[in-house]
Amino acid sequence: MSSTKQMESELRPMDAEQLREQGHKMVDFIADYYKAIENFPVLSQVEPGYLRQLLPDSAPNSPDSLQDVLNDIQEKILPGVTHWQSPNFFAYFPSNSSIAGFLGEMISAGLNTVGFSWISSPAATELEMIVLDWLAKALKLPDDFYSTGQGGGVIQGTASEAELVVLLAARDRILRRLGRNALPKLVSYASDQVHSALQKACQIGGLNPELCRLLETDSSTNYALSSSVLREAISKDIASGLIPFFLCATVGTTSSTAVDPLPALGKIAKTNGIWFHVDAAYAGSACICPEYRHHIDGVEEADSFNMNAHKLMLTNFDCSLLWVKDRSALIQSLSTNPEYLKNKVSQENTIIDYKDWQIPLGRRFRALKLMMVLRLYGLEGLQSYIRNRIKLAIHFESLVVKDKRFEVVTARVFSLVCFRLVPPPNSQDHGNKLNRDLLDSVNSTGRVFITHTVLSGKFILRFAIGAPLTEERHINAAWQIFQDKASALLGTSYHDSAFSS
Ligand SMILES: *Cc1c(COP(=O)(O)O)cnc(C)c1O
Repeated sequence: MSSTKQMESELRPMDAEQLREQGHKMVDFIADYYKAIENFPVLSQVEPGYLRQLLPDSAPNSPDSLQDVLNDIQEKILPGVTHWQSPNFFAYFPSNSSIAGFLGEMISAGLNTVGFSWISSPAATELEMIVLDWLAKALKLPDDFYSTGQGGGVIQGTASEAELVVLLAARDRILRRLGRNALPKLVSYASDQVHSALQKACQIGGLNPELCRLLETDSSTNYALSSSVLREAISKDIASGLIPFFLCATVGTTSSTAVDPLPALGKIAKTNGIWFHVDAAYAGSACICPEYRHHIDGVEEADSFNMNAHKLMLTNFDCSLLWVKDRSALIQSLSTNPEYLKNKVSQENTIIDYKDWQIPLGRRFRALKLMMVLRLYGLEGLQSYIRNRIKLAIHFESLVVKDKRFEVVTARVFSLVCFRLVPPPNSQDHGNKLNRDLLDSVNSTGRVFITHTVLSGKFILRFAIGAPLTEERHINAAWQIFQDKASALLGTSYHDSAFSS
């Protein structure tokens, strides 16, 4: 037998029975991982480059066994994993997993379609339109955002991609009117709390970096963008011959979950013919609960709206939901029509081709996992899940408030608590070193993982709740670590002199 023949007879990469057998083993492996997840340090404690020392420097010539690979994952890979699904993960913003989301990923990987146009997998396009209409309804978005009109929803990988595609659509919409020479005069607006994704989008979009205005916010508005500051900036720019074209408001900023006043900002955008985008990447999920929906009041005036179902809505990464009112603006910026993709349905324009709503051509069948999450949990299940995350945050906040050595720095709105150790008297640096030391010392325990931000020059600890396995006991245990480490850092003398009276 020639060696090629031998390979053909041995390598059966999609044998259904082998899939069943190995798939079961993998599910067992993952289920065991979840059972033991609290035994790992939440924040991986390895040093950069650790893995190269543990793995061979070339790929194997002949196949390894699944068991050997799983053993290596257990012994060599897992120590270098930061466990985002650990109940003790409180860093950044959460990135939810769920059984429904996991099963959705499985079926999506199982079918492994590449649904760039309707014909390339009709159900992929149609299910995506339907589930995004379902969610538009759950969020009470205005009718213009539904796919049954001139708009519609699309699943992007991340909020960054969503922001980029709408910025390009807005840019090209105004350049069609004013001519391409206007590009260096285009001005975009957002608060200084906007996510860095906007800056990246402006860079990619070829905009004048000096004209990507990040308008100053402060504690007086709880770090939300003030409409008068925006109005002033726009007037000034118009007076100097510049062309305002894009406004990004944030509902739930990354540093402190500040909520920009959408109704007032939307009015200004409309008056000035500016594309109005609302970034609710993290907080959008909470708005499926009636009691939080008011945070996106004013979305009626928006041209586009984005939220990440993968942050707080139990849909495994990645699943960023973008709605636009005028899909033709996106399509005019992003469509191509090469011969090799032409087909009758696309030519007749009877339904949409999502390749024209995004950067890449190829796209995963992500609507399946969103459908699984919506159907297996129901809107009520998701609402109560999100409410419980926020309840845990309220609980954490109450613990912070009770310990006079600490203070809550910005008002809690959703499931993020921003707090810090009160600076010692006469502290030159606002107690920043103290709080940085506290962060490092808490994270080095491996028992919790949190991150920080800086607001008005103050170093602030962010405690972001949202992992599905987190319960009140984890919050209490985490708080105990903060208190112990604070005592170790402050020493009793500081504590006594500053606070005992
Ligand atoms: C998380 C987040 C982003 C960026 O998210 P990606 O999906 O990773 O690009 C943008 N804006 C806000 C408000 C966020 O919370």
